[in-house]
Amino acid sequence: MTYDLAVVGGTLVSGSGRQRADIGVSGGRIVEVTAGNGAGLEAKEVVDATGKLVLPGMVDVHVHTREPGYTHKEDLITCTEAAAAGGVTTIFGMPNLDPPTVTRTHLEEVLDLYAARSIVDYNHNPVPAHGETEAMAEAGVAAFKVYMVVDTGRTYPHPAGTGIHDHGHLLQMFEDVEETGRVFMVHPHDQALMDHVEQGYWKRDDRSPEAYAKTLAAYDGIIWDTATATLLRMAKATGCRLHIVHVQTIEGIEMIRRAKDEGVRVTGEVNHWALFLGTWEDVLELGPYCLSYWVPDHHRAAIWDALADGTIDMVSSDHAPHTRAEKDVGWEDMWAAHTGTPGIQHQVPLLLDAVHGGKLTLERVVELTAEAPARCFDIGSKGYLRPGFDADLLIVDPTKEWTIRNEDVLSKIGWTPYDGRQVVGAVERTFLRGVEIYGDGTVKGRPGLGRHVKPSD
Ligand SMILES: [Zn+2]
Repeated sequence: MTYDLAVVGGTLVSGSGRQRADIGVSGGRIVEVTAGNGAGLEAKEVVDATGKLVLPGMVDVHVHTREPGYTHKEDLITCTEAAAAGGVTTIFGMPNLDPPTVTRTHLEEVLDLYAARSIVDYNHNPVPAHGETEAMAEAGVAAFKVYMVVDTGRTYPHPAGTGIHDHGHLLQMFEDVEETGRVFMVHPHDQALMDHVEQGYWKRDDRSPEAYAKTLAAYDGIIWDTATATLLRMAKATGCRLHIVHVQTIEGIEMIRRAKDEGVRVTGEVNHWALFLGTWEDVLELGPYCLSYWVPDHHRAAIWDALADGTIDMVSSDHAPHTRAEKDVGWEDMWAAHTGTPGIQHQVPLLLDAVHGGKLTLERVVELTAEAPARCFDIGSKGYLRPGFDADLLIVDPTKEWTIRNEDVLSKIGWTPYDGRQVVGAVERTFLRGVEIYGDGTVKGRPGLGRHVKPSD
């Protein structure tokens, strides 16, 4: 048959290995994967990937698109342009928008915006507000999201309705999400402990980035670990599938490992900043620009180990763009700054660079960025370069040396904490369902191309 697209001459990488093979694509799906030299694959368009790697597009389950409500920072077009350039072909958006996604009506409004504006495929995680979860699950969400955070001294990034303190309320959410069969994604945090620790700094009038970093890392991660223990116990009690975001402590990793051994249905993610940013040197040099969090070196080492051994299931960007003005206030008062860093455009290249540096295998990167997120969130059409799956694929040059620069940032904010960093490994072209959305250094996908991918699609 004559395919719409053939990708020939490349080395296909999966979680279990790599092979020289060619891909035939029709109707946006992979129809044929044939080991060999590509002779015989006829197509309207042939992409020569000789000497290159072919990877499945990244499924990034943790993205702050900022639309609706905060489009001065980012919007669905700029966010998904950055995604396309960064080798991300599916995103899950987060509910801390304005209005926050806490009802089915708001959810449908958000999904309409993606349909009109997203360049990549998408899903969206609403808050599991009581009485709304079943209706929201029916609308096709793959997961729900809540923060165990209620901000002090600012109203963002955790606006009312998206964060909770109350453990009874949290348990109710576990019960409700369990009934839907979907995944519950939670940001672990103990606000009472944070309040106590931060008071010590505030009494000394110290609101510096260093004080903020030390507060969240106090007692070797107590603010994280107590919350993680609570979440795991609730997952065990209810049988709800739990996804823990921002794993960043040794104790947290150990608790997840034990819970998995016991049969608790839990997955964990780390974010690019825990791997490539957030050293103490970064805190001193970049201050608000590298925070949310400081990840002390002994924790970072444990995270790399847990990535390699499978305790941590996936990497997500937690792409969290903020303007320079929203960051710069943090030099004086980090508690007034918006926390989080952008990352969707650079996480795949940074992971390729980590492969080059011998920190991780390429196969494991494919598992962490594509296979595991698609599998853990029941997105049956994504994550694998196999017949029947969507033709979401990346052409990667693993030897290309280049420098990350603010000038090349596609996110509306125009900066990256990685400005000036040299990496080896680049995404050359990105295809979504067989359509090139990034190549030759430019975004080629058009807003509205993205589709809502639903669980078991
Ligand atoms: Zn986040």
